[in-house]
Amino acid sequence: MKEKILGIDVCYDTYDELASKLMLDINEQRKSFIVAINPEKIMKAQEDRELKLLLNKATYQIPDGIGVILASKLQNGRIRERVTGIDMMLKLCKEAAKNDKRIFLYGAKPGVVEEAKAKLEEMFPNILIVGTLNGYEKDEQVIERTINDSGAEIIFVALGSPAQEKWIINHKDKLKPFVYQGVGGSFDVISGRLNRAPAVFQKFGLEWLYRLFKEPTRFKRQLALPVFLIKVLRK
Ligand code: UDP
Repeated sequence: MKEKILGIDVCYDTYDELASKLMLDINEQRKSFIVAINPEKIMKAQEDRELKLLLNKATYQIPDGIGVILASKLQNGRIRERVTGIDMMLKLCKEAAKNDKRIFLYGAKPGVVEEAKAKLEEMFPNILIVGTLNGYEKDEQVIERTINDSGAEIIFVALGSPAQEKWIINHKDKLKPFVYQGVGGSFDVISGRLNRAPAVFQKFGLEWLYRLFKEPTRFKRQLALPVFLIKVLRK
């Protein structure tokens, strides 16, 4: 159920299909790793072999970003809808609450992660968030012990990219949770500290435009998109 875009695997499963597969992974005690794929990461991976291997090692690469959809269209692929990191996380929270699966939140600044937990508990009354740890705790032993002692089955890792992906690959064998998702700045958004783009921007896949207004310095990062699409076309 995957398609290659410039050498990077991307899944074409929907939110529902992914959520069922992830619940099954937990029930069958299999480790799985979700990574959000966007043009910026695909472009970076063209020059960084290690990053390319890392992205392809994930169990589920989700098409986060309109650029990935456009690329799939250009190469007559099958990816038609975005699966964003934050919406996948929320979907997983909803399913976890329904199926009594325990969740851990790791990452973001001290304070933010606790606020994100409180917000998720408001959104999903039955959710089981069994532990949190901010992303500035650097004592490996504390990190491992806190996560393993919590009994969590799902862990969301919000350390930014590619730090969170590297962290997941390097730690998942020593840790007890089954499902690992790298979620970037999602805890900042869920806690309410960072505004998500208004719904109309989300609907048309224009979050990038909204972010450009809010943080004009991201312009350079976003230049990667047209370059990326040209590269896909050439191929
Ligand atoms: N962060 C962290 N520990 C660090 C560095 C960053 O927990 O050592 C957090 C930071 O507080 C923020 C997130 O990682 O919540 C990075 O978010 P960003 O939107 O930059 O993610 P990206 O766009 O790289 O996916």
